[in-house]
Amino acid sequence: MDKSEIRATLLSLSQEERVALLSEIENEPTSHSLNILGQRREHLDNKIGCCPRCSGKKYRKHGKDKGSQRYYCNSCKKTFTEYTGTWLAGIHKKELITDYLKLMEQELSLDKIKDELEINKKTAFDWRHKILSGLENIDQGGFKGITESDDTFFLHSSKGSKLYDRKPRKRGGSAKKKGISNEQVAVIVTADRDTELDLSVVTFGRIKKSDITQAIGQRVSDDTILCSDSHVSYKGFAIDNDMEHHAIRADLKQYVKQKIYHVQHVNSIDSRLKKWLEYQFGGVSTKYLQKYLNWFKTKERLKQSKEFLKDFTNKSLIDITARNTYMEIGQNYQDLINTTLN
Ligand SMILES: [Zn+2]
Repeated sequence: MDKSEIRATLLSLSQEERVALLSEIENEPTSHSLNILGQRREHLDNKIGCCPRCSGKKYRKHGKDKGSQRYYCNSCKKTFTEYTGTWLAGIHKKELITDYLKLMEQELSLDKIKDELEINKKTAFDWRHKILSGLENIDQGGFKGITESDDTFFLHSSKGSKLYDRKPRKRGGSAKKKGISNEQVAVIVTADRDTELDLSVVTFGRIKKSDITQAIGQRVSDDTILCSDSHVSYKGFAIDNDMEHHAIRADLKQYVKQKIYHVQHVNSIDSRLKKWLEYQFGGVSTKYLQKYLNWFKTKERLKQSKEFLKDFTNKSLIDITARNTYMEIGQNYQDLINTTLN
């Protein structure tokens, strides 16, 4: 059927038939893209979602909004769509997102992605961080059993903060000051021996007890057996949370206690993380570091996945705080810089 035939057929339909056809088209997942981007809608339709505004669980379908499903919340009396709050909110060219995600899975450079999809580099950059924002507040289970935690440092970098700088600031290199200084941003890496993992950017320079609390305070309990270095911040954190604590004295060449207490898993995660950031991206800017940590964390969680792209997308799309997380990138970076002033 060519275009003129389609046109003729459409014009021959009665009003009633046209309405029926339209409703059929709207209810049909029109492209393969919906299969991968439809997780949130599936949750909502199966009544395991909630209203992104008030967390209400009583809502009903309420027509369509530019192809997306709209819902009406009985509690706050407002409407929302399947995309409200997710990273897909506010993305206009949704038809390109599935292809974008595939290229992202291959970890191609923004330049390659921009050429491939004929979008501009700013869009490619923004989409990356919107998507990664959806991975920030998920997989927040409790740490159980032996749980290793250690801090690691990244040199402060402003790479990528201004995409269009004619002369990008030289990146990499080594810190001017010796030891841990405020030129270095601290990341806390925590993992139990099962699947729970946390990677959090916390401050510049040495970490304090409050930084550990901020990173993992919500996820520990008296089921957690903490292994860390003998830093006073960790000691205090363990006491505050009433946890069994094993401090490893690497300074005394002690690396393993009683054959089971050590921090070698988190050290290995740290070293793989640093290699990945360096080889894959040539280093990343401090402002966006947390987003890359979210990416790495999810890659670790999905190591065994047979459908990585689907699982990755599903995870990111069910987070209805993603849009806010993305909008707060600038403020969070400012807050991080302010920690050096305290
Ligand atoms: Zn509501």
